[in-house]
Amino acid sequence: MSVAPTEIQSLTAASFEAPAKFREFCRNGGEPLGGIIGGKSVPGTMNATFESCDPGSSQWLATVYEMGAAEVDAAVKAAQRAFAGNGVNGWRDFPVEERIELVKKLVELCDRDRDVLLACEILDGGKVSELAEGDVDQIRACAEYFCGVARRIPLGDGPGMDVADGVRGFTYREPWGVVAGIIPWNYPIVLTAWFMFPALLSGNCVLIKPAEDTPLSALYIAKLAEEAGFPPGVVNVLPGRGELTGQFIAEHPGVRYISFTGSPGVGQHILRTCDRHGTRMKREMGGNGSAIVLEDADPRVVARMIGRYTNQHYGQTCCTIHRVYVDQKIADDFIDAQREFFAGLKIGYQGEEGTQLGAVINATQEQRILAAQRETVARGGQPILPGGEAEVAGHDGYYIKPALYRTTPEIDCNPMEVFHAFATICPVSNSDEALALANRSPYGLGASVWTKDTERGVALAKQFRDGTCQVNCHNSIAYGLPYGGQGISGGPGAGVNCEETFTDYTQVKAVYVAEYPGEE
Ligand code: NAD
Repeated sequence: MSVAPTEIQSLTAASFEAPAKFREFCRNGGEPLGGIIGGKSVPGTMNATFESCDPGSSQWLATVYEMGAAEVDAAVKAAQRAFAGNGVNGWRDFPVEERIELVKKLVELCDRDRDVLLACEILDGGKVSELAEGDVDQIRACAEYFCGVARRIPLGDGPGMDVADGVRGFTYREPWGVVAGIIPWNYPIVLTAWFMFPALLSGNCVLIKPAEDTPLSALYIAKLAEEAGFPPGVVNVLPGRGELTGQFIAEHPGVRYISFTGSPGVGQHILRTCDRHGTRMKREMGGNGSAIVLEDADPRVVARMIGRYTNQHYGQTCCTIHRVYVDQKIADDFIDAQREFFAGLKIGYQGEEGTQLGAVINATQEQRILAAQRETVARGGQPILPGGEAEVAGHDGYYIKPALYRTTPEIDCNPMEVFHAFATICPVSNSDEALALANRSPYGLGASVWTKDTERGVALAKQFRDGTCQVNCHNSIAYGLPYGGQGISGGPGAGVNCEETFTDYTQVKAVYVAEYPGEE
């Protein structure tokens, strides 16, 4: 059955009111919210605080203590104590079923307080409810997947082999100990879950460093972890700026492994810091996703589908589409349909019914996007929709109009990740040209092909250099399939959400055992 194009809509807001429990959590009895270290809320010795605000209204939500070097050190020590216990009862010694039991309790509590977590994602993160609901669902989905993996992949001794006369060898798999997750602001709950569950279930104690713009969900989840019965020090949260709190984490030699999600520049910087003292690190970073539209595709349908993906979280989704290569035979119709889709997006406050394009996260991001729009034109992009600032009556947020540009294969006017409802559309003469242009980017996170001929689509999709290649869909992520980037979009490690993600949080040693020399 063919889809009526207007039924393909961008993710949309239902009207949202924060529950009293969320407001109470944010007020915290009039005190700033502390970091969570060793099961306690701590104020931080730097005596510095920062405010978490609603990006759609600039209204204050909560004041949070920033964690300094002393708190990072205290958190590492608390996590080390929790990991080792008194030698027999540390988190590393918990039977896997006991770890699973605690994770399940935490998930139940997240379900119980779903409305609070939704408020974190909608108000602190600036999301429309349709997306936020899906994000909160990821807590259960991710936990259940990694509980299964934890049962399948045993820690401890691996199979042995004879390595020489009288010498046996075997592998020994164990958790790293203290691992840190450095999280960006665009998917705070999803990315906290993706880090925390495999790390905890493989026996590590975690430090969570939420982004300074979105600290609330991690702090709330840590509160629920305490209620679930996690031993103190197993889950710690260190709010603060990247260049301070994040940097202190990267510099601490007691942190054995870091999982970083964020921009390539920051990821490379942290990698260099980690290298100084041997901390291992995996990096999941930005993208500048591409889509190839073949000549047999219906331009009206595909333009709306691509528009829906491009505008997922207003374009602030790492793998989504920002570069489109469309066969020139259907390019004009495609461009008309994309213009109509983007021009029809309802710009508004994310908590109001019908909003499809809300505010971006902060003033810096707003200026970065507006500068990128000007730069695209300076590099030769022809505006189809010119972007620029938008006004939303009654709401003082960072609102920007969508931007679309027509371009040609000779012009590279979209080289960097622009985190917004922003795309360049380049008519091409054939799929080889489209592939070469798509693969020209230094990023390599997500790409898709759009065609009625799925066999041809699969053959083309396999030739993207990106870590995620899709046919007639984009932004799909499933537990069991790796999600990771190539080029500057990713670093060592298998990506997230697969069995190898679990093993990334462990180290494997080789153990050799020879008979004692000289004995009969
Ligand atoms: P960012 O790199 O600015 O910050 C990410 C995190 O790193 C934040 O918690 C920040 O405080 C911290 N940080 C900053 N400087 C640091 C330092 N010197 N030492 C330690 N920590 C430091 O990224 P952002 O603007 O918060 O997030 C958007 C980026 O994240 C985009 O590039 C997006 O594509 C990417 N992203 C990637 C994925 C993925 O799975 N590949 C998922 C979501 C977002």
